[in-house]
Amino acid sequence: AIYNFGSINLDHLYQLDHFVRPGETMASDSYQCLLGGKGANQSVALAKAGADVKHVGAVHKNDAQILAQLSDLGVNTDLIAKLDVPTGHAIIQLNKEAENAIILFQGANHALTEEQVDQVLAQASSEDWVLLQNETNLIQYIMRQARAKGLKVAFNPAPMDAQLAKEVLPFVDLLIVNEVEAMDLIGVNDVDAAIDGLPKAYPELAVLMTLGKAGVRYFNQDQNLFVEAFSVKAVDTTAAGDTFIGFCLSALMDQLDMKEVLTRACAASAICVTRMGASSAIPSISEVNEFLAE
Ligand code: ADP
Repeated sequence: AIYNFGSINLDHLYQLDHFVRPGETMASDSYQCLLGGKGANQSVALAKAGADVKHVGAVHKNDAQILAQLSDLGVNTDLIAKLDVPTGHAIIQLNKEAENAIILFQGANHALTEEQVDQVLAQASSEDWVLLQNETNLIQYIMRQARAKGLKVAFNPAPMDAQLAKEVLPFVDLLIVNEVEAMDLIGVNDVDAAIDGLPKAYPELAVLMTLGKAGVRYFNQDQNLFVEAFSVKAVDTTAAGDTFIGFCLSALMDQLDMKEVLTRACAASAICVTRMGASSAIPSISEVNEFLAE
């Protein structure tokens, strides 16, 4: 199984003429409430890829509909705590220029306790993976405990906090970053320098670097692979990275060869960018197989 210790957010989206100004009250005639958070998106991608995914996190105790939604998409929600803390959420204003202004409330996403982590990891076995992003608390604690149990750790340090990422990289088996995150992490402004610097600084680490419409690189001290992205008409790249991660980890758990793993993940994220939305844009494994057969 994959234990994804990740965020669950409700994204409240409002379309407006312009962003609300100080002292102003503005009515919006367009409102959408969508399930989001990198953690939840990656769990959905894992489930759609066919993986056995257990999401570990927390929501407010009255937000049972979120758990039902995740569970309908194939995510195991037994390890999601129901707390007396508001569910993590984002208030997103979208103006006419398609720019956004966002208030993020972390809420329950930062309410994980060491006891909850210990209980979860006590039931994991050595073939299991632990996946983390950077939208929840106790990251270092979870990684240390997971490593001590012999579990594999995958880390997608988004949003990037270079200080934290550097502290925890010794506990990580697979690092998944985009180009900007990789450069921020090493403190360089050149992608090749990051590709060179990461395996030197962390010899044990395997790195997956997604390169947007160019594709993806996978490298460690002795391997360097590149897989080109599929050429599609992109309309919305939201959740492309999350889709990539889900399909990639799922294929890795199926012990596929690395080139095959990357090709599948590229196909899944190529389909994702042709559709609007976040979790709703993530394809199923059968759609990915059909795409690859074309
Ligand atoms: P993030 O969204 O995390 O920044 P990327 O932009 O690197 O991640 O995208 C992740 C993956 O999605 C890429 O490795 C690629 O396979 C796929 N992808 C992203 N944008 C496109 C695109 N325009 N066309 C085809 N595939 C894309």
